Amino acid sequence: MKTERLAKRYRVEGGKHFRLKDFDPADTGHWRSKKHAQEALQQGIVQTAALQDKLYAQDCWSLLLIFQAMDAAGKDGIIKHVMSGVNPQGCQVFSFKAPSDLELQHDFLWRTTRCLPERGHIGIFNRSYYEEVLVVRVHPEILKSQKMPPTLVGKNLWEERFEDIRGFERHMARSGTVIRKFFLHVSKKEQKRRFLARLEEPEKNWKFSAADIRERGCWDDYQEAYEDMIGNTASKHAPWYIVPADNKWFTRLVVSAVVVDALESLDLAYPKVEEEKRKELEAAKKVLLSK
Ligand code: ATP
Ligand code: MG
Repeated sequence: MKTERLAKRYRVEGGKHFRLKDFDPADTGHWRSKKHAQEALQQGIVQTAALQDKLYAQDCWSLLLIFQAMDAAGKDGIIKHVMSGVNPQGCQVFSFKAPSDLELQHDFLWRTTRCLPERGHIGIFNRSYYEEVLVVRVHPEILKSQKMPPTLVGKNLWEERFEDIRGFERHMARSGTVIRKFFLHVSKKEQKRRFLARLEEPEKNWKFSAADIRERGCWDDYQEAYEDMIGNTASKHAPWYIVPADNKWFTRLVVSAVVVDALESLDLAYPKVEEEKRKELEAAKKVLLSK
């Protein structure tokens, strides 16, 4: 399957018929094993690196990649893998945890807005403003810490947040930020297996936190919140990708395909040298060669 087709298969651009249960976390397309996909995996990294070089040189578009998932779905590994070939100078990763006191003094889009990628750059959000319609929705008591004027917290709050997010993403897209959003779709069974590995293998112990088990207890509420979030915020200019996450190698292949597809869809090219600049380069060359 070519990159473009692989990317398209998991893309959601609108919420009308979206149901999470239509997507299988264990899907691997027509790939049978990691070994089988090895070449494509490597190719994706090489292509991303070459495209990023042009993105940076052109200094016009920017790319924002947003990752959301249940714990142990593999966000960190994906970010490490997909970005392994790119020049760190043109790429920045931000992880968003529970907000700080300063962040709580502001609206919910403030902290992420400060971290948006500059032109020519790739920005990666490991969690994002989408937590505001996920963890905050599943645990509405968090809302109290947000210090919102009580009259503004009504029964349409989540709908209003979806609307604000849609408006924000439309604005970013119109300004030249290409947005691609990934939901790493792991099954409850696979999450259990990974948690057990974190408990049993000493070198994975550090990855485990007691909060992970608490959140697992809210699995169904999270799935519902994810479904509603994706259905309400998927658009042509900021699509969601429901990436099967039970097999890490396949998750990597899909994410890499989407990144390549997104960059290829742009008119990326190295800046053309103006006549005057070209003369300057030729003169410099002459000087260098004459000594
Ligand atoms: P890992 O567990 O792989 O190290 P992580 O992204 O799960 O990475 P943690 O420190 O375990 O990092 O979790 C961050 C926590 O912060 C998550 O439970 C997330 O829901 C929470 N969080 C993120 N944004 C918000 C927010 N706006 N309000 C409240 N909680 C938030
Ligand atoms: Mg965690």
